[in-house]
Amino acid sequence: MSYVPVVDPDECLAHGDCVEVAPEVFRLDDTAVVIGTAPVELLLQAAEACPAVAISILDEDTGAVRYPS
Ligand code: SF4
Repeated sequence: MSYVPVVDPDECLAHGDCVEVAPEVFRLDDTAVVIGTAPVELLLQAAEACPAVAISILDEDTGAVRYPS
């Protein structure tokens, strides 16, 4: 099972915490953008680091929301 991160640009405050946790997954433009993926543990770590709860982690196949729960 694999997971994908999704950033809500309306919620992102662009402070870059997610980029610090997972630079291979997120890049900071005006808001954070997804540039890759990583093991789910790292995706969850980055999502939990987001002070705006702007990052969702979805099951790639079903679209089910793994985070936030
Ligand atoms: S941690 Fe959250 S608020 Fe900060 S840049 Fe990443 S997505 Fe945006």
